[in-house]
Formats: sequence, C-alpha cells, structure tokens
Amino acid sequence: MSKLLTLSELRRNLSRQLLAAGIEAASLEASLILEFITQLDRSEQILAAEDVISAATAKKSNDIVERRITGEPLDHIFGFREFYGFDFRINKHVLSPRPETEMIVDMVIGKTDKEQKFTVLDLGTGSGAIPISILKHRPQAKGAAIDVSPLALEIAAQNADHHKVAERLHLIEGNWADDIQTQFDFVLSNPPYIDKEHMENLPRDVADYDPDLALFGGENGLECYEAISPQLSHLLVPGGQAILEIGYNQAKPVISLLKQAALVDLQVHQDLAGLDRIVSGRKPCEASTKI
Ligand code: GLN
Repeated sequence: MSKLLTLSELRRNLSRQLLAAGIEAASLEASLILEFITQLDRSEQILAAEDVISAATAKKSNDIVERRITGEPLDHIFGFREFYGFDFRINKHVLSPRPETEMIVDMVIGKTDKEQKFTVLDLGTGSGAIPISILKHRPQAKGAAIDVSPLALEIAAQNADHHKVAERLHLIEGNWADDIQTQFDFVLSNPPYIDKEHMENLPRDVADYDPDLALFGGENGLECYEAISPQLSHLLVPGGQAILEIGYNQAKPVISLLKQAALVDLQVHQDLAGLDRIVSGRKPCEASTKI
C-alpha cells in the first residue's frame, strides 16, 4: 500500500506533475484542484496542510491531473468556470467565459445604480455569464438573452436557476435579434469574432474545448457585427447603449459599422493587457434628422 500523504505533500506532488507537463501556473492550478476535491478554499488548505488525506481524495486528484496533462483545461474538468466572482456551469456547447468579458459587466454596473430599474439584452449568451452577473448585482434589472444554440440555452437556464435570476432573465432561441420587438437600455454581446486565419492557429486548449460556433466570426471575423449592428437602433431605447466585445484588431471596422447604424459617442476601450477589447455607442435621444 502506498504511503498516506498529507495535504501539503499532495499539493507539492500535484504542482510538480503539472510543472513537468509544461503548465505554467502549476502552483495555482494545484490549489484549484485541491479546492475542487476537498472543498477547502486556499486559506483553509493552509490550515489543513498537515492533515492526512484519504486514498479516495488522492485518487481523485490523480485522475484530474491525468486529464489536465493531456491538455484538457481545468474548467472543463470541473464543469464550471468562475466569472465576475460567480461560478458558471459550462460544457462543450458553450464558450467558457473569459476574464476580458468581465469588462462588459463592469461597464454596465458602472453606468447604473443598485436600485435602478433597467433592461439588458445579451446577444449570443452562451453560458449566460454576462446578463446573469449583471442581474446578480442589479436586483431591479431585467434582461433577455438570445442564443442560436438550444444546447447552450440549456446551460444558460441552469446558470440562471442556480444564481436565482431565472425570473428576471428571459432566454430566447434565435438568430441574433431577428424576432425581438422590444427595446432595451443596454444591448450587449461578445459575439464569435475569430477570423478564418486565426481559427486555423488556435491554441489546442481553445480549439479542442470551446465550440467553433462560439468562436468563428466568418472569413473576416466580422460577420456577427455585420449582422448585429443594423439591428441595434431598433433594439435600443433612445439614449440606450450598445457594448460589444471585439478582437484586438477589430476596433476600426466595428466602429465604422456602429457609425453606419447611426449610433453616437462611439468609444474603444482597452483591456488590462492594453489591447482594444470593447466598443460602445449610444442611440441618440432624439432623431438627428429634424426638419
Ligand atoms: N456571451 C458568452 C460569453 O461571453 C458567450 C460568447 C460566445 O459564445 N461567443 O462568455
């Protein structure tokens, strides 16, 4: 029988195995794996460092490491990903929500007050991470979220239920906003925006685990913006705002699409890495074509 390990020994072994497999954030990932299997957060793990762990826990951690070193991302192994401080269920039918996308949530939260009543529409909602995070922080807000994939909407529904916002979030299967007649204070989207050339060179942990449907934005990467932007002025209340995530090299063409859609106050926002990441614009309060 193999020797029983303490939690800190297991942690060290895990880190070593992950590092040897070329995983850069080995120590962080080791903590996350232990958190997942023991339910102890990182400070609790420190307090329990000398506890002897059970054979079952050791086996679970082994199984996870084996999957991880073949390239499977941790969020897919766990079945959830943290976004804006909340856990979101994910699977192969939805994009695993990325930290850059938290900027969209931040911007809406920054422009509204806690008790404000307002509405959001999320186009291509995937896991539902964007509108659910907003509704968690804004208890008077309501929203609608659209996705073309019924399998993605199943996950979004589970996340809305889990986070207790299902009554305030209307989930709709559809092709962008083709069937929507209502107007919203905010229209949001992190659409698929990867072009053909970049699709062919994606890192394996993206290519093998995130769905193509959530990534591929057509030959030039802009097809979704071309589909969405003509719908924006019908979808926004006067003064309403559109906030769209973009690829690092797409600010110019997307801004010009928003201009054609008669939005004003067009802005490009950079992410923490200094890359263009979000464009925003506003529908004018009054029609500019007064006679
Ligand atoms: N809105 C979801 C997210 O940002 C899904 C986006 C997508 O599938 N392209 O995570």
